[in-house]
Amino acid sequence: MFEKILIANRGEIALRIHRACKEMGIKTVAVHSTADADAMHVRLADEAVCIGPPASKESYLNIPALLTAAALSGCNAIHPGLGFLSENAKFAEMVVEHGFTWIGPKPEHIHMMGDKIIAKQTALSLGIPCVPGSDGEIRDEDHAREVAEQIGYPVLLKATAGGGGKGMKVARNADELRQALELGRAEAKNAFNNASMYMEKYLDHPRHIEIQILGDKQGHVVHLGERDCSLQRRHQKVIEEAPSPALNAEARAKIGAIAVKAMQKLGYESLGTIEFLYQDGEFYFIEMNTRVQVEHPVTEMITGIDLVREQIRVADGAPLSFTQKDIEFTGHSIECRINAEDPISFAPRPGKVTDYHAPGGLGVRVDSALYSGYKVPPNYDSMISKLIVHGKNRNECLLRLRRALDEYVIAGTLSTNIPLHQKLIAAQDFIDGNYNIHWLEKFVAAYVEQLAKSEAEAAA
Ligand code: ADP
Repeated sequence: MFEKILIANRGEIALRIHRACKEMGIKTVAVHSTADADAMHVRLADEAVCIGPPASKESYLNIPALLTAAALSGCNAIHPGLGFLSENAKFAEMVVEHGFTWIGPKPEHIHMMGDKIIAKQTALSLGIPCVPGSDGEIRDEDHAREVAEQIGYPVLLKATAGGGGKGMKVARNADELRQALELGRAEAKNAFNNASMYMEKYLDHPRHIEIQILGDKQGHVVHLGERDCSLQRRHQKVIEEAPSPALNAEARAKIGAIAVKAMQKLGYESLGTIEFLYQDGEFYFIEMNTRVQVEHPVTEMITGIDLVREQIRVADGAPLSFTQKDIEFTGHSIECRINAEDPISFAPRPGKVTDYHAPGGLGVRVDSALYSGYKVPPNYDSMISKLIVHGKNRNECLLRLRRALDEYVIAGTLSTNIPLHQKLIAAQDFIDGNYNIHWLEKFVAAYVEQLAKSEAEAAA
């Protein structure tokens, strides 16, 4: 087993990886920008290396600095975490070329799934059902019109290099098509430096259901069930749960088997998530993520399997320590993403944490890098904590979540979306599990309106 691993990330996910390493007897090397010198992932690691100034481009995305840090600290392997360089096939290749083990899938699979058009073509060839859409890139407005007429309106224009919902535009009819294509291209060019677009049928009431898979270098692949991530704002997940209130054991086994068979055929190693939209009993592939996901803890809570530990083991060449039959799903788990953001505008609102109290008790897990006195830097993602609960069933899980959210104190000059979560989990549709990917957007609009009204009244 590896003696020392460099964790090429920051915040809660760096800490999460550190924890798995410690339990495996592996030493950790943290990297950090100058803005993160006081960060918890730096404090807990065995060693820490400063890799540059606050801007991600010059620190967490700085490949020469990361490779140098790994070499100087004598690491055997590099764990990329999520975001930053985790889905950069070139980085994965360079890690291997420099003599380190890459804790992730083969670079060719990262590359394949990073291009949404190639990913969809691959999925189709592996027998995974996809959303109807263009065969490849949309060439121009005439081509867009042609494809839209074939698949029928409304349609969704999506960025080939996509991520984080950027570049996605809906067109409900031919008149809206030109603008959607122009706006989508501009946004994609800005975000990914790649204006290439493709088109899909826009599904009007799907759930987002994703399958967690895990493969080893000996060709074994298992699935660890699904996560329902339908509660999204601007195509960003806010709450995730497992199992999905919308799937029964039969549907789960069926889509799980399709995912496993496809990944075996591909020779996929490491953790991966196959994302689907699920509408009227049918699954439609949208993309595959070739890394650990933010929402992986809900799967860990219902399976009792440490996914990061398994990811490290298989990267080291160990075969999976369990088979599909050994995986048991117990109870229910829900995760709330806690962001430092303005409750009305949703703009990031980082700042200093003056008072911190994390909830605890049976079935409560907090994956966070916060502490009292910590100053959340403005330079990075606004997600500052994940609250995850587990219960014997969904009802117990909901009661526990309410209790844990009420206990959670993050006070200071920042603001968080904890009040939004409290309101959201009290909504009858959520309690009933009756929601799709468009539900939260409507809920948030009403919530913000109400909030703005009461603020105005208080000021008057
Ligand atoms: P990204 O990589 O930018 O996150 P995805 O393809 O994963 O893009 O889609 C993100 C989210 O956008 C999905 O979870 C879903 O809410 C919405 N979405 C994607 N494709 C469609 C579609 N064809 N119809 C309706 N909503 C979609």
